Amino acid sequence: MDPFAEITRLRRGLDDGEFSSRELAEFYLSRSRQLNPQINGYINLSEDRALAQAAAADARIAAGEAGPVTGIPLAHKDIFCTRGIPTTCASRMLASFVPPYDATVVERLEGAGAVTLGKANLDEFAMGSSNENSYFGAVSNPWDTSRVPGGSSGGSAATVAAGMAPIATGTDTGGSIRQPAAFCGVCGLKPTYGRVSRYGMVAFASSLDQGGVLGRSAADIAMLLAQFAGPDPKDATSHPESDPWLNALREMPDPEQALTPSDGLRVGLPKEYFAHLAEAGHLDEASKLFESWGCTLTEVSLPHTDAAIPAYYVIAGAEASTNLSRYDGVRYGHRCSDPVSLEDLYQRSRTEGFGAEVKRRILTGTYALSVGYFDAYYLQAQKIRRLIQNDFLTAFESVDMILAPTAPGVAFAKDDLTADPVAMYQQDLFTIPASLAGLPAMSVPCGVQDNLPLGMQLIAPHFAERTLLAWSHRFQQATDWHTRHPTLSEAAT
Ligand code: GLN
Repeated sequence: MDPFAEITRLRRGLDDGEFSSRELAEFYLSRSRQLNPQINGYINLSEDRALAQAAAADARIAAGEAGPVTGIPLAHKDIFCTRGIPTTCASRMLASFVPPYDATVVERLEGAGAVTLGKANLDEFAMGSSNENSYFGAVSNPWDTSRVPGGSSGGSAATVAAGMAPIATGTDTGGSIRQPAAFCGVCGLKPTYGRVSRYGMVAFASSLDQGGVLGRSAADIAMLLAQFAGPDPKDATSHPESDPWLNALREMPDPEQALTPSDGLRVGLPKEYFAHLAEAGHLDEASKLFESWGCTLTEVSLPHTDAAIPAYYVIAGAEASTNLSRYDGVRYGHRCSDPVSLEDLYQRSRTEGFGAEVKRRILTGTYALSVGYFDAYYLQAQKIRRLIQNDFLTAFESVDMILAPTAPGVAFAKDDLTADPVAMYQQDLFTIPASLAGLPAMSVPCGVQDNLPLGMQLIAPHFAERTLLAWSHRFQQATDWHTRHPTLSEAAT
C-alpha cells in the first residue's frame, strides 16, 4: 500500500477490489500509531469508529452503491465537532468535551461514506501559525522534525505529508490551511467565506472562519470539497445558493473532466507581496508555466496590504473574545476544583483552561471592544477591511486570478518565533488579506529550498474555486512538486 496515494487512486483500488476500505483504514491507523510519537499530528485516533465505518463502506461498495468518497479514510481537524469523539480544539478548556452532535462537514462526509481516522492536532482554538500553541504538544514537520508544520491546521498538514492520512479537513481564519499546506508540501484550499457551513466548527472569529481541505492534489481537494460544500440551513452565513459545478462534481468518482481550465486566463502578480519576498525563484518558474499555457501575466497593486495584519488582529481578537466568553466552567469547558465563589470559579477555570496565546487574544480583543476604544480600534479595523476587499475587487476587474507567495519563507525552526508574537503574526502577511476579503485561496506546492517545500498561493474572485482548482490541476499535470514526500515517513515504516 502506498501511503502517499491520492484519493482518486484509492477510489479506483476500492472499486476494483484491489483492497477493501477496512484494509485501507487498518493500514493508515497502524502507520499513524507508528509515526504519531514523532509527528504528533493526531490528538486522538478514532479506531473503533473508523473500522465500523469502513465495514459499512465495504458493504456499500459491494452493493454497488458507492459514491466518490465511500470508503476513503481522512482526518478531521480537532475543531470540527464529532459526536461521541472528544473535540478538544487543542485546549485544556475542552480536553474532556465530547460533542453530542456532528459538524455539518463531518456529517456530510460520513454520510457519503468517508471514514474518520482521527482528530488532527492544531494551535489552541486555531490561534497560531506554528502549531506550537497546542495543549497536546507541538506538531513536527515531517520534512524536518526540528521545524514547525505551520498553523493552525498543522496537524492536518503533517498527517497528510507523513502519509498518516490521505486527506484532511482544516479551517482557515487568516491562513491556517494555506500556510501549513505550504510548509508541509501539500495542497490546501480555503474556500470563499460562506461556501462551507460553519455549523459544529468551533468558532474563533466568526466573520473569517472557513472550513476547507488539505490534500495531495487539486483533484483530491475538488473531490472532497464537493461532498460537504453548499448551503446549510443550520448556518445563516452559508451561501444559500448551491453551485452547479460542485453539484455535478459530487457525483463524479474521477474529477478529471470537471477540472479542465478555460482558456485565456489573466493572472495578476501583486507587487506589494513580491516586494516583501526575499526569494521568488519558485514563483518565477510557476509564472513561466502559466505563460506557456497562453495565460497573460500582469502586475497588479493591492495598496492596503500592509494594513492587513493590524486590522486582522483587532477583528479576529475582538470576535475571539466574545466567542470564547462561553467557556466559563459553567456552561462549557474546564471547571476548576473547589471554587470558593462564583467569581473564583470563573476566574480560575479560565486561568487554568486557556493557554498564553488564547489569553493574549482575549485580552486584546476585549480591550478593542471596550467603551471608548471601539471606534478607535474595531470600527477602524472594519474600515480597513473594506479597503482591502476593494483592492481585490479592483484587481479582479483586470485579472481572473492572483498568483502570490503563500508564506515569507520555508518552515521555520521550533521555538524560533515563540518569544515574539508580532514576528509570528508577520508569517500571515500574504494569507490574511484574502481572508479579510472573504476570497477563496489555495496553496499549491511549487518548489523546494534547503530540502523544505515551498508553496504558491492562488487567489480568485468570490465563489471562483473552480478557477483555483482547475488551474492548480493543470499545474500539477505539468509538475511533480505535489508528489514529493518526506523520507522520514518511509524510514519509519
Ligand atoms: N495565524 C493566524 C492567527 O493566529 C491565522 C490562524 C487561522 O487562520 N486560524 O490568527
